[in-house]
Amino acid sequence: MTLSNNEATNRLIYSGKRITIEIDGRSGFCFGVRHAINKAEEQLQKGENLVSLGDIVHNQKEIERLETQGMKTLSYADFETLKNKKVLFRAHGEPPESYEKAKDNGLQVIDGTCPVVLKLQERVRNAWEAMKKVNGQVIIFGKKGHAEVTGLAGQTENQALIISSIDDLSAIDFNRPIELFSQTTSSIHAYQYLIDQIQKKAKAGFRNNDTICRQVSNREPRLRSFVKNFDVFIFVGGKKSSNAKFLYQVCKETNPNSYFILNAEELDFNWFTNKKKVGISGATSTPLWLMQEVAETIHQKLNKE
Ligand code: SF4
Repeated sequence: MTLSNNEATNRLIYSGKRITIEIDGRSGFCFGVRHAINKAEEQLQKGENLVSLGDIVHNQKEIERLETQGMKTLSYADFETLKNKKVLFRAHGEPPESYEKAKDNGLQVIDGTCPVVLKLQERVRNAWEAMKKVNGQVIIFGKKGHAEVTGLAGQTENQALIISSIDDLSAIDFNRPIELFSQTTSSIHAYQYLIDQIQKKAKAGFRNNDTICRQVSNREPRLRSFVKNFDVFIFVGGKKSSNAKFLYQVCKETNPNSYFILNAEELDFNWFTNKKKVGISGATSTPLWLMQEVAETIHQKLNKE
């Protein structure tokens, strides 16, 4: 077999006598998730005990890898009573109440909040201060209950109006000033549509902020063109990850021979009958090592046996 790394695209290619397998060099962790995992690993390598408030990443396999190094995952209910430990805040960020609770309980915070999210929290906080003075509204376009949205709403004393779809438009008071933000992982098209609708109705001033993270939004068009090159496409992702579900949908629409798996154990080798080119990609929460494991498994089975 040959494993080559195409430096121009950072793709990993496994070639052999039956099948060629290529990993999308632009898939895998986004910058923010990598940043949080690096913070966790720094502590674990020092032999420190570390608890992560909520899943550090929406990928069970990566969580298990970190747990074998000593990390524990904590629910929000258990966080209430945790004392005198090191606690990791993940890439999604936390509301001010979590920092206050940590301080009250003698916890040391290892802050893995993505720098992009931290900046967004600051902008939301400033907008809220400004809106309060003019009886205005801060609106967040995002998923209710999503950790990042909870962290953003916390910057507004939980007074921000959260809009998950165009159906929630009637909750907005168009006679008051409006400042709009988006969760970093929202769809650009849906956000633009919402902006257009608010623009048409707003009577007392409207400002919108482009806060969608391009680390995520750029993946869709790139993936759409990458997935076309293969006879079979394997998408590796956590079943709880909304980014994984969305990107897998993109794969399936473009290439019907696309399959969504958590790890190599879920491979079905019937998928590869009479196929020559296999592509592999993953979500922003999928580690590269997991995609490599999938590629290796296919390669060992089809090119070696
Ligand atoms: S998607 Fe963007 S904003 Fe969100 S964690 Fe990743 S890099 Fe940060």
